[in-house]
Formats: sequence, structure tokens, C-alpha cells
Amino acid sequence: MPNSNAGIDVGAAMTPKDVRHRRTSAPDDAGLTQVVRVEKVAAVTTGVSAGRRGRRGAPPPFDADFVARWLRASAAEIAVHRDFLTQLDAAIGDADHGVNMDRGFAAVVSVAAAADGLSPGELLVQAGATLVLRVGGAAGPLYGSALREAGRSLGDASAFGLPELAGALDDALVAIVKLGAAEEGDKTIVDAWTPALRALRDARSAGAVAALHAARVAAEGGAAATTPMEARKGRASYLGPRSVGHQDPGAASTSLLFGALERAAAETPPDR
Ligand code: ADP
Ligand code: MG
Repeated sequence: MPNSNAGIDVGAAMTPKDVRHRRTSAPDDAGLTQVVRVEKVAAVTTGVSAGRRGRRGAPPPFDADFVARWLRASAAEIAVHRDFLTQLDAAIGDADHGVNMDRGFAAVVSVAAAADGLSPGELLVQAGATLVLRVGGAAGPLYGSALREAGRSLGDASAFGLPELAGALDDALVAIVKLGAAEEGDKTIVDAWTPALRALRDARSAGAVAALHAARVAAEGGAAATTPMEARKGRASYLGPRSVGHQDPGAASTSLLFGALERAAAETPPDR
């Protein structure tokens, strides 16, 4: 059962604008959204033609099966690390992050299994809606909006390449920042998501699997780097200096999602 959204501090507006999108902030997500201008944190160039056709004229590598594999692998990673995430949240929050995420991603897997014939983007939109509905606390709306915006970014194309994937993940981060107004260094999921996208951008010429490997490594590094930080957003910020010395649970779960993405890409059939 979703609980309150306590912990999302939507008070602080971000500075520059330049959101690539048409989006205005709709009053959804249990009233959490606000009008903020967000910086496009990690703009990854999207060479549409490269994405649509692939470099050697091959079809783009990612499709709805890939997204379904990502979602299943995410659920599996979170299930395995459920108690770990909950312990992290027990130290600086309310000990529900692992349980919430596990319940939400289990629901996402059921929805994905029943979602026949959806495009990859539509599947992500459904997954996001499921997370908003099923995961309580701050994480549900944050991850839910992230997946939904990633899905919207992919639209109804049946397949996509690394540039589109990177662009979709960019949009996911924009959604997270738009909703939670956290910056790097605030000890939140943004501290794993941002370096992951930076690494993905820097490694994109090495190919999808290598780029997503780099993203996962950077996400893990970002999550580990939250330990000495003092939380400035979310429930952990109530602890002030006492939040120092503990890894942020949301940054840890973000690194699991990037790990799942790497796995899903590594399993992409080579002829796709
Ligand atoms: P709650 O704190 O409401 O119990 P969860 O335990 O599910 O929610 O999730 C906590 C995680 O949510 C934190 O570890 C942090 O990473 C993330 N989080 C909280 N507030 C924000 C925010 N404003 N922006 C980004 N991430 C946030
Ligand atoms: Mg919590």
C-alpha cells in the first residue's frame, strides 16, 4: 500500500532552464509536481539516424523485449538486495525502501508480462505508472516519473538505438529533478543517476554494452560516494549531520537499475 510521499522536498527550484521538451508540469503524482525549471543535466546527443538504422546499416538493437528484460532484471536485483536497501533506509530513513521497491518492481514485472504488443516506450510508461501506484514514499513517484518520461521519450517506435536510450535516460533524470529538486551532492538518487549518464555519454562511441557497463560502474561509484555526504533532500535530511556515514538507499537502488540495464543489453541477441 502506498504510503505518504514524505521526504520529497519540492521546495527548491533549480536554476537554468533548457529543458528540451514540450513538457509543462502537470498536477499529477499525488500533487508532488511543481513548476520548476530544470537543467538538462546530461545532454547526450541523439543522432536519430544512427539510432534508427545503426552504424553499419543494422537495425537498432533495442526493442520491447529488451525493455522487458531490463524491468525483469531490475526486479530480480531489487529482490536480492531488498534487505540491504531496507537496512540502508533504516539507518537514515524509515526502513521501507527495499520493501517498497521490491513490491513495486514485482508489480511492474506482472504488468510487463501481460503487456503484449506494446512498444518499448509504451511499456516503460506503463511500468512508470505502476511504480507511482504501488511504491510508496519518495521513491515511487520519483522512479515512476523517471520511467514514464523515459517511455514518452521513446514514443511508439518499435526499436531504438543507444542515442535514443541515452536520451530517454536523460529525460528520466530531468523528471526526477523536476519532481524532487535535488542536485548532485544532496545525497539522493540523483547522485547515482547523474554520473551514470555522464559515463554513458562519454563511452557511447564504444558501443551499447561498453557504454552501459561504464554507466553501471559510475552509478555504483556515485552511490558509494553518497556515504560521506550530508543529506539535503528527503527524509534523511531531517537527520542533518547524523546522515553522514551512511550510503543513500535511493542511490543504491539506482545503481541496481543500471546494473540491470547492463545485463539486459549484454543479453541482447547479436543479430538484432
Ligand atoms: P521515503 O523517504 O519517503 O521513505 P523511500 O525510502 O522509498 O522514501 O526512498 C528514499 C530515497 O528517495 C532516498 O534514499 C533518496 O535517494 C530518494 N529521495 C528522497 N527525496 C528525494 C528528492 N527530493 N530527490 C531525489 N531523490 C530523493
Ligand atoms: Mg523510506
